[in-house]
Amino acid sequence: MADRVASVEQATVREPHSGFSGVDIPAYDDYAHCVHCGLCLNHCPTYKLWGLEADSPRGRIRQIILVDQGRLPLGDSFVKHIDQCLDCRACETACPSGVEYGKLVEAARAQINQHYERPFFSRLARNFVFRDLLPYPRRIEILARLLYLYQRTGLQWIARASGFLRLLGLADREKLLPPIDKTFFYANLGRTFPAAGPRRARVALFAGCVAQVSFSALHEATIRVLTANGCEVIVPAGQTCCGALAAHAGVRDVARSLARVNLDVFLGGDFDAVLTNAAGCGSTLKEYEHLFPAGTTEHDKAHEFRKKMRDVTEFLADFGLTAHLTALPIRVTYQDSCHLLHGQKVREAPRKLLRSIPGLELVEMAMADYCCGSAGSYNVTETQTSLALLSEKMKHARATNAPVIVTANPGCLLQMRAGAEIHGTGQEVVHVMELLDRALVKNR
Ligand code: SF4
Ligand code: SF4
Repeated sequence: MADRVASVEQATVREPHSGFSGVDIPAYDDYAHCVHCGLCLNHCPTYKLWGLEADSPRGRIRQIILVDQGRLPLGDSFVKHIDQCLDCRACETACPSGVEYGKLVEAARAQINQHYERPFFSRLARNFVFRDLLPYPRRIEILARLLYLYQRTGLQWIARASGFLRLLGLADREKLLPPIDKTFFYANLGRTFPAAGPRRARVALFAGCVAQVSFSALHEATIRVLTANGCEVIVPAGQTCCGALAAHAGVRDVARSLARVNLDVFLGGDFDAVLTNAAGCGSTLKEYEHLFPAGTTEHDKAHEFRKKMRDVTEFLADFGLTAHLTALPIRVTYQDSCHLLHGQKVREAPRKLLRSIPGLELVEMAMADYCCGSAGSYNVTETQTSLALLSEKMKHARATNAPVIVTANPGCLLQMRAGAEIHGTGQEVVHVMELLDRALVKNR
């Protein structure tokens, strides 16, 4: 123990001298805040699962420091522990020293991306998803049309029933595929939706990438809720993927070029706010500053953009609901999205909106602030850990006896829907905007 403490102390006082340089590595000024107190440990899902210091926030920060100082090789062990992190940022909320852990782990992943050669198939898959697919809406659309056929023509049923997916080791991952919409949201890019009644605000909606082929109904519900409450909603053409998945995976050049496009599109219009219904995207959109060095034009633009960028629940809870809501006499429980709670520090807003629906009973789930295992692409890359966390989550969700689970992020929705199916809880999983929309729909 004494040795460990001594080496931790040495690790914190030295300046980096590993030869790594540039903006895409963990910054000394960021990791030097960690005093290694360990107060974050019991908030960390991977530490709670395995009880290993190397898979705790403190342990990961220590490895980041040692790599930066050239005292630990940037090799398989480091990559494994950094990959196994959910980037859920629960440790950030728990930390009394204000360590911005999300910034650190994403920079460590960028460092890995530049200086470590992953196995061939991993490189192939990462290049395909982050470089050749997500930045291109047309390619997402083509892939989505193929997936739609797979899901709706009986092929999915055959693949599952025949054991073919199990043979390929894809059975668990396949259950987490998003259901593809019949019609996509792309047709709404460039459209303006007028406010119902007097206009109280003019807002832009961020539509995302995968959300446009699998969450069109959520976007439409969001627009109905906003317009019913006096917002004129513009869905700016030219916007693109926020780059969150690429940034979380350390593929920062791609995240940066996507950020440049979005900054130009959303700063080019006269909006009171830019809104998203996806907490994972919102957290990255608000943190575009992290992608660009201070003093650059892009950093300044990102700073301006951050002032406008809001999660839709955060915006509406402040703005105030003016539309009449009819009663929804149901019991619901709310699952915090990590990137809304820990990334954006928004806890009360979604709960306040839910409580504003007459007749709705909100019951708190134990450990609602604990990751469901979705974590961007974590459920695909670390499927077994993700399913273990999901199993815990569904135990707590079931214990509430609420037939409906509400959340504020599409990734969490998919994960919890898969959880309800796998664990047979029979619970419906919806977004806060969908419930608000239901209360409105009864009005019409
Ligand atoms: S990240 Fe914060 S809470 Fe965790 S060990 Fe470091 S200083 Fe302590
Ligand atoms: S981000 Fe989440 S999984 Fe990663 S170290 Fe922090 S609490 Fe643990």
